[in-house]
Amino acid sequence: MHLIDRITTLYREEFGHTPAHIARAPGRVNLLGEHVDYNDGFVLPAAIDRATYIAFSPTNASHCTLRAVDFNQQARFSPLTIPSKTQLDLSPLPEWALYPAGVMWSLMEERVPVPSMIAAFASDVPRGSGLSSSASVEMAFMIAWQTLGGWILASMKRALLGQKAENKYVGVNCGIMDQFASACGVENRLLLLDCRSLEWKTVPLPDSVSIVIADTTVRRKLTTGEYNKRRSACEEAVRLLQQDLPNIRSLRDVAVDDFNCLAKGLPGEIEKRARHVVEEIRRSHQAQAPLEAGDVQNFGKLMNECHASLRDLYEVSCPELNTMVSIAQSLDGCYGARLTGAGFGGCTVNLVAKEQADGFARALAKGYESETGLRPEIYITRASNGAELIR
Ligand code: ADP
Ligand code: MG
Repeated sequence: MHLIDRITTLYREEFGHTPAHIARAPGRVNLLGEHVDYNDGFVLPAAIDRATYIAFSPTNASHCTLRAVDFNQQARFSPLTIPSKTQLDLSPLPEWALYPAGVMWSLMEERVPVPSMIAAFASDVPRGSGLSSSASVEMAFMIAWQTLGGWILASMKRALLGQKAENKYVGVNCGIMDQFASACGVENRLLLLDCRSLEWKTVPLPDSVSIVIADTTVRRKLTTGEYNKRRSACEEAVRLLQQDLPNIRSLRDVAVDDFNCLAKGLPGEIEKRARHVVEEIRRSHQAQAPLEAGDVQNFGKLMNECHASLRDLYEVSCPELNTMVSIAQSLDGCYGARLTGAGFGGCTVNLVAKEQADGFARALAKGYESETGLRPEIYITRASNGAELIR
């Protein structure tokens, strides 16, 4: 049964009536532009065809009642309990409820009407795999409150308010890409976002290719510390390069040629980190032309270069990710493969000829398992629309 039917049935069983509305909001995957968001660069994500679905109705009650089907739990909160992050009975909100409550909080701060609702929601975006299940929950609730509140905000504005909810209410320090892709996704298109100006456009992804996501199932613990070290290295590179290039504000402002001239003046590790960023920003910029021309081959090459750079220069890969990528790159029908997300485990993203995607997924799973002893999760997906009201 599709999740839309399942969520409708579960809502009816729980609340005794048919939901007034259904909304969906997808997860996302980034195809190019990794570790450049905090350097004012360009990212190239797509919304995927896995999503959070929410069945909801308005209510006269002064509080919201939410059922998280995937956790088999319920939470009740109101504008009065929002500041203390508690439920009506004053017990702390369960972790999953911080996301919808955070959306309510950021909308209240925005001073738009946030009426009470009854809702049940469920998702087929895997949680904690780097496909942004959290942003998909936030954006699904954004659509629900937009529907009941009778206001309309631009999709980028909804994304920014979702990011604010996650940063300031849930307490997770994420960039804008996740909520942006979930809010603004377009079927069969990649989204090119300028992380400095927040201007964005779409570029086509041919119908003949599938996006295949492969989860190594490995999660490294040191991620936050290593992530912060990479950010500091980039800031240090900017500080040092400013001696010769006083007008730069971030690595985004450094052209590859200028960088090549100045690189020998940088300490070895700083040089490697900054080189990845400067070249990756160029790659994500360069990607537009082949995509516009339907040239998946050349776009795939940029993905492969990105992986090598994340592995050798930015040093955020790990043996399992490298194994997954090497096997993928050797298989028929694969245009490009690389680690996606922060690194140190998590998923790879692969661009694969659609008619070969099933065989590719089987061979990749088999090869990875025989080399690592780990059984991967593989998702064949495609670029889909962003958050929307279904009915
Ligand atoms: P991800 O990379 O998937 O976004 P996060 O750690 O950022 O991982 O977010 C995962 C959290 O988001 C979950 O622990 C849960 O609190 C919330 N969440 C995600 N999906 C669901 C869901 N289907 N139902 C309820 N809460 C969810
Ligand atoms: Mg998340």
